[in-house]
Amino acid sequence: MNIAIDGPAGAGKSTIAKKLAKEMGFVYVDTGAMYRAMALYFLERNIDAADESEICAAVKNVEISICYQGGVQQVILNGENVSGKIRKEEVGNMASAVSVYPDVRKKLVALQQKLAAGADVIMDGRDIGTCVLPDAEVKIYLTASESARAKRRYDELKEKGAECDLEAIQKDIKDRDYRDMHREESPLKQAEDAVLLDSSDLTIEETVEKIRTVCREAQMA
Ligand code: C5P
Repeated sequence: MNIAIDGPAGAGKSTIAKKLAKEMGFVYVDTGAMYRAMALYFLERNIDAADESEICAAVKNVEISICYQGGVQQVILNGENVSGKIRKEEVGNMASAVSVYPDVRKKLVALQQKLAAGADVIMDGRDIGTCVLPDAEVKIYLTASESARAKRRYDELKEKGAECDLEAIQKDIKDRDYRDMHREESPLKQAEDAVLLDSSDLTIEETVEKIRTVCREAQMA
């Protein structure tokens, strides 16, 4: 059984998915982390995101896999655990820039489908319900207003002690959403059979409860 959660940046997908996976005994798969690991490979080699042929040639040299340590997903890039390196905004922006290329997507979608075939997964991303797992038993499109998402990201960074600027974060989110929603290959959009959930005015627990209800209705929980 599989649950697909898609939505724009900062909607709370990973927080919600992790919580649900734990209580339902599902494996949580963060597909954004795979795009970020791929992006890190290009960044570390100064490969220009706009150079499609160089990116596509480099994809052949990238091996990405995931494993779990204490239940937490780790991303392995060519044998190196890069989980600690992929959370920077720079990496997220590069991931968004290179995820437009079919060769990049093909490689990661194949890995994601393999993972879902071998376990009950809750997978979050941008194209899970529309492309990666079109037959998922439950599909959620989780969103929130741009300002709510920017504020959450700001609070998260502040809590980690990082210097940040709310306006810059909001602009970043806006640019990333635009790119993710307007690319040709598997753009971010709500699957026809997905349940739309706007979490702007909901707490994490309220959001999780709404998804539990959807799962109950699908007779999963
Ligand atoms: O979810 P996260 O912010 O970590 O994702 C980083 C970027 O990776 C997204 O902005 C998007 O461009 C890309 N991505 C994607 N498809 C997915 C997951 C992430 O294109 N399934």
